[in-house]
Amino acid sequence: MSTETYAMLIDGKWRDASDGATFPSVNPFDGQAWAHVPDATPQDIDDAVTAARRAFEDGPWARTTPLQRATLLRRFGDLIKDNADELARIQVRENGKLIREVASQATALANHCYFFAGVAESPLGETLASSVPNMQVFTVREPIGVVAAITPWNSPLALLLWKLCPALAAGNTVVIKPSEITPVSTLVLGRLIQEAGFPDGVVNVVTGAGPAGAALAGHHGVDKIAFTGSTAVGKKIAVTAAERLARVSLELGGKSPNIVFPDADLPNAVNGVIAGIFAATGQTCMAGSRVLVHEDVHDEFVAALVEKTAKIKIGDPLDPETELGTVACQAQYDKVLHYIEVAKADGAHLATGGGRPDDPALAKGLFVRPTVFTGVTNDMRIAREEVFGPVAVVIGFTDEDDAVRIANDTSFGLAAGVWTRDLARAHRMTRRLRAGSVWVNNYRKTNYVAPFGGFKESGIGRENGFHAIEEYTEVKTVWIDT
Ligand code: NAD
Repeated sequence: MSTETYAMLIDGKWRDASDGATFPSVNPFDGQAWAHVPDATPQDIDDAVTAARRAFEDGPWARTTPLQRATLLRRFGDLIKDNADELARIQVRENGKLIREVASQATALANHCYFFAGVAESPLGETLASSVPNMQVFTVREPIGVVAAITPWNSPLALLLWKLCPALAAGNTVVIKPSEITPVSTLVLGRLIQEAGFPDGVVNVVTGAGPAGAALAGHHGVDKIAFTGSTAVGKKIAVTAAERLARVSLELGGKSPNIVFPDADLPNAVNGVIAGIFAATGQTCMAGSRVLVHEDVHDEFVAALVEKTAKIKIGDPLDPETELGTVACQAQYDKVLHYIEVAKADGAHLATGGGRPDDPALAKGLFVRPTVFTGVTNDMRIAREEVFGPVAVVIGFTDEDDAVRIANDTSFGLAAGVWTRDLARAHRMTRRLRAGSVWVNNYRKTNYVAPFGGFKESGIGRENGFHAIEEYTEVKTVWIDT
């Protein structure tokens, strides 16, 4: 099989690593290395940050107006739509995402660009009351400077645009370090950035693994680190940022509760719980991986959940009929299987799934059957640690207080779901749940307008919506004695 070769984007040029090193991108469906990508050296990262700094301080970008930036972002959005098929197919190849999940993604990605084009055009400062006669007091929002955007593999393009669009709308320059599992889709996006007409050095893409990310985050020329990934790495980045008080936003892991009350529309709740945990093969930060079910409907709900889960169609991610694809990489696959063993050893009951599918046609792929454990208590490791795979645990509860206690008994706080027909209960639960997003009678909804981010160890800061611009700007207060 022929492999493709990609280069990095630094200062408007496509470059190999300075020592010529590369690493492969492996298709998790067939185990084949299908592309080779540069493994950036510290010198390459320094070059990228230097280019971004130059572009920020004295290139044409430094003189662009917000309206010009809005025009560029709209062009970028149009190009994403024009190249939708290529972007979708690469994401399927590099991480096993389902074609049915990514085929229509370009519209959402483009809308993200259009929304932040609108934000660039919006009034961002304020006129303030003065205590002194003849004093004009106002604020302006200025770009922070050079932004390092470090992204994970599970949704490489969406999670990148959540950073890139507000950063560019505000006038920052950016060095992107995509995950080593999914670098190619980001490199293609870099090509579209160039085609849209962003000046050289405004957006740079360096590829590599953790050490490249650490070199970028630790670079003194970086003013802000925007990171999405695991809580473990997020904490390291917070320490690195603290040393020089670099600005930082962190979108981290979760172990989100999805809570089913006895007054819920149960068939609807079953579908919502399944979509909440098994979409993207369970590899979403907001996965509803702890399913809390009231004791009155526990057995009925679990029976329906297990029956439907066992019927989920596993297969080739490029087949539009497939409902569950592969895990993205070998290390993640091993981790998921390990957690299944941990859950069994801790006494959880395996109700369905729990290993590879038997189908010989799937033998080369990193497949894990959708798995449900019952009889789980919230102190088990399978209920406390993020698996990031197709594994749901069912935990029983007795009443609202019990549900809130279990739901909030976690170090995470990214998201929560509530299934009930009782409006007052929906409001009470929404108030009491310690999570950045709460969905009532739905799950996993996000869009460019709605802020997204975590409480507790799920992160710092918010992406999307008008709040996002605050993460990429400094406020300057101006006093003019007239
Ligand atoms: P990860 O933390 O292993 O890696 C994320 C990125 O950080 C990658 O680009 C990686 O190369 C880089 N990296 C690794 N070590 C680094 C270091 N020491 N310094 C700097 N960068 C480093 O995460 P992952 O496995 O790619 O992604 C899965 C995780 O991301 C899950 O925990 C998931 O919950 C989380 N996630 C969170 C959100 C959110 O919005 N809250 C969204 C998606 C994924």
